[in-house]
Amino acid sequence: MHKGVILLVKEKNREDAKTSIQEFMSNKQENTIDWWEIGGRWMGLLDDYKPYKDDSQFITCSLCNGTGLSNENDKKNTNLCTNCNGLGKKLPYTLTEHKNDIMLLKDCIEKVKGYGMSMEDKAELYWEKMLNAKKRRDKKDTLSAYYAGKYNICRYDTFGTESDVYDIEKTVHKIPDDITDYWAGIIDFHF
Ligand SMILES: [Zn+2]
Repeated sequence: MHKGVILLVKEKNREDAKTSIQEFMSNKQENTIDWWEIGGRWMGLLDDYKPYKDDSQFITCSLCNGTGLSNENDKKNTNLCTNCNGLGKKLPYTLTEHKNDIMLLKDCIEKVKGYGMSMEDKAELYWEKMLNAKKRRDKKDTLSAYYAGKYNICRYDTFGTESDVYDIEKTVHKIPDDITDYWAGIIDFHF
């Protein structure tokens, strides 16, 4: 599964923020995360950038050579190329890195505040789901244990698959009161 998480880090500039984020994610990778990148599916989340509206992200479709037709040599065949839906161009598998996937927290604070759920609220939600699962009293009720596990993660404030916004300085799921020199980075990870 893919998961988008915003990491918060206190650094002097974007380059240092990027390095800190990369080090943090590389250290976490050993456990549950098998793959990660800056941006990814969440590219542009912090500054409302839409890669699919940016022409510079596109490459010429290799199947139709940019013609958009299913058979470029047959002029009577007007069927559209199935690889690019007739556009003649495609977004590549790996997009060009978007600078503002790491930006000053003060410049994207509303986005960060609006992203995801607090760990306290998540914990309550999983507790409710656990109780509901138990009420069903199925012979093999493993769902309640599943939700109890998620409740555990939220209560211990552990970084991982439940994380939405995480401060890697203070190791908490909370936006700091003083956001001076803080950077936000949007990460796509797979687990
Ligand atoms: Zn094509």
